[in-house]
Amino acid sequence: MLESIGSKADIRKIDALLESGADLLAFLNDFTEVKLDQVAAHPDYLQHLNGSSLGGRAFAPREFDGRLLGNDFSRIRAPMPEFMVFGGMMVSKADIPLLLAAHREPKALMHALKLGLRYAADRVAGRRGTRLVMGNALVAQLFSSALKRGVSFAFETRVAQLSRSAVGFKARLQTGSGDVSVRAGKGVILAAGGFSGNAELRKKWLPRPAVKRTVAHAGNDGGGIELGLSLNAAVEADHGGNAFWMPVSTMRRTDGSVAHFPHIALDRAKPGSLAVDASGQRFTNEANSYHHFCEAMLARAADNDNDRFFLIADMAFVQRYGMGMIRPTARPARRFTECDYLIRANSPRALATQLSVDGLTLEQTLARYNENAGNGVDPDFHRGESALNRHNGDALLHGPNPCLRALDLSDLCAVELTVADLGTSAGLATDDRARVLNQSSHPIPGLYACGNDMASMMQGAYPGPGTTLGPGMTFAWRAVEDLCS
Ligand SMILES: Cc1cc2nc3c(=O)[nH]c(=O)nc-3n(C[C@H](O)[C@H](O)[C@H](O)COP(=O)(O)OP(=O)(O)OC[C@H]3O[C@@H](n4cnc5c(N)ncnc54)[C@H](O)[C@@H]3O)c2cc1C
Repeated sequence: MLESIGSKADIRKIDALLESGADLLAFLNDFTEVKLDQVAAHPDYLQHLNGSSLGGRAFAPREFDGRLLGNDFSRIRAPMPEFMVFGGMMVSKADIPLLLAAHREPKALMHALKLGLRYAADRVAGRRGTRLVMGNALVAQLFSSALKRGVSFAFETRVAQLSRSAVGFKARLQTGSGDVSVRAGKGVILAAGGFSGNAELRKKWLPRPAVKRTVAHAGNDGGGIELGLSLNAAVEADHGGNAFWMPVSTMRRTDGSVAHFPHIALDRAKPGSLAVDASGQRFTNEANSYHHFCEAMLARAADNDNDRFFLIADMAFVQRYGMGMIRPTARPARRFTECDYLIRANSPRALATQLSVDGLTLEQTLARYNENAGNGVDPDFHRGESALNRHNGDALLHGPNPCLRALDLSDLCAVELTVADLGTSAGLATDDRARVLNQSSHPIPGLYACGNDMASMMQGAYPGPGTTLGPGMTFAWRAVEDLCS
């Protein structure tokens, strides 16, 4: 499948992923607390390709009880506040429909009550909920497993320098109480998360429009890649955009910090919304994956030298699905409109004025969208035709096309979207054993890279869920296997 995407992925790395992926899953399941369930229904992102699947390819962590970590629970960084409810309760994708149906279905009400009671008890004892789901559950499962095996962690410690020594490597660590030198006899695995937070490397490797608009992550400052470069490592930076993208909307929190909310799967594909560029025109199928949606934003920005984009809906949409940071509600809190996160208007022309886009064009775009949506078709961008589109639409409550509904033009709203990266793809060149390669393409003895420090084996393709974490964990496994062989 990767080959048909046009990815230059090394066939040996594809084989390595398939071979070691299965070994890794078996090991995690049998010997650790990491419990991953196959997700039966989760379509690949490029459904038109031979070999694409409707499900069974992705794995999701089971929920984890943070209380099992005791005092070490405080080491698990909380998700961004906008991903939690009541200031600290995690909610999985599966919880959402149940919470929304709690007022009308007894089973859903029971589930909501169970979550609420557990959260209330958690808050009596601590700062946030201990029922961990999604990425937080995976991190906690890995951390707990490592602690039980006696692995020691150095927190608030940065590897600032790495050099060869007579017996392996010497590293200078910056700690809260000064610098420390350590030796690594067998080898070193670089896994510092890529260069999302490194302004210089962003300028060098990311496409121009993204550099202008993309939001840098805290951490992941390219330190691992720079350590590799200091040892003459080679870099792969020819992966198209060199990053994995997601659209975000942005708002300043009451404490002054800035929140970037990823529009991954909860709103873009739902019926009753569309996205336009700064000219007021649609530019892509909004129900495509976050990465491919952003590729369309970047292409449009490059063509038009204008990188403002908006997700438009009506207030009935917000009531049913929410929009970005706004949870499903008939009356969004005033703070969303007061800071212009949510822009409301009672006609296309009035909305266009507020968004500074051309009024006539926006009016025509909405009229055409509504006319086609009424017939359940999208001749312009084929929204709702692929299995992925329909999966993220609302087949339960809306037909014939679960991704299309005409908007109420007298009660419109919009949020502004920008492109952000969810991780970087360019990175240190490695072989299929995760060994870092030097400028002559030979492995540097004892030096490995994985996660986003390793140049992505997908080489610019984003075929489906887990595109970064799947290879990240599998090549970490292969690095350790090689190191211990
Ligand atoms: C909202 C969102 C949703 C996502 N969803 C998915 C998904 O569903 N599936 C998927 O596959 N991917 C997903 N991703 C991407 C995924 O989270 C990242 O690609 C992945 O976490 C990267 O893992 P990593 O181990 O390379 O880096 P990280 O998880 O960032 O770990 C790197 C660690 O190294 C530490 N570090 C950095 N520099 C140094 C240094 N010099 N010395 C010592 N330590 C250092 C950092 O503090 C950090 O703890 C998502 C990302 C976002 C933002």
